[in-house]
Amino acid sequence: MHFLSKALENYIKEHSANEPDLLQELTRETHLKVIQPRMITGHFQGRVLSMLSKLIHPKNILEIGTYTGYSAICLSEGLQKNGVLHTIDINEELSSIQRKYFDKSGYGNQIIQHTGDAIAIVPKLDVVFDLIFIDAEKISYDTYFEVAIQKTRPGSIILSDNVLWSGKVVEPLDPKDKATKVLLDYNKKLKEDARIETVLLPIRDGLTLCRVL
Ligand code: SAH
Ligand code: CA
Repeated sequence: MHFLSKALENYIKEHSANEPDLLQELTRETHLKVIQPRMITGHFQGRVLSMLSKLIHPKNILEIGTYTGYSAICLSEGLQKNGVLHTIDINEELSSIQRKYFDKSGYGNQIIQHTGDAIAIVPKLDVVFDLIFIDAEKISYDTYFEVAIQKTRPGSIILSDNVLWSGKVVEPLDPKDKATKVLLDYNKKLKEDARIETVLLPIRDGLTLCRVL
């Protein structure tokens, strides 16, 4: 979704860090070989994720929704030297393309892939995460959030992607549109939840930052 004019988007990209060549290659391969390539994180948002991760400098990162691995590589750029990123995707067909690019990125030995439903996998991880990125099925956002927050400490950051849902959150609600309803409830909850402090950033399709209190 593009909330800004094409000209402004281009200007923003041109005045932000360049997209690494490897991520351009991953984007090309994703478009050629994988369905729904529009789900992939793009140049600008990828650099935002990279910068946030570098600022947080996490020891442990959790990603829910790997897809072809673009956002996982961006987030890994901020890992501590011995840090680890756990990333989960329910679609096992994606794991070989993910692994190929994780290894090419230089973060291969710091990235652990999990295949299956994040709702079942996260509770089994015995890790305290400094940074969490939620980007899988929108219908389950609240459940992902609830399992993920159990694995945080005060000061941990939880990011949630696509929370503006192409702008549908401010349009009249179609009663058949479950995803929009879920995101409306989710955004309201994040604002009101006393366990966290929240800002919703208008980055690409909407990226919420929550800091655990
Ligand atoms: N973070 C990626 C895009 C993720 S797209 C990027 O920015 O490039 C969403 C992904 O969530 C899809 O690959 C889908 O297979 C996965 N997914 C859907 N439901 C899931 C679940 N319950 N547990 C884990 N992954 C899930
Ligand atoms: Ca996304």
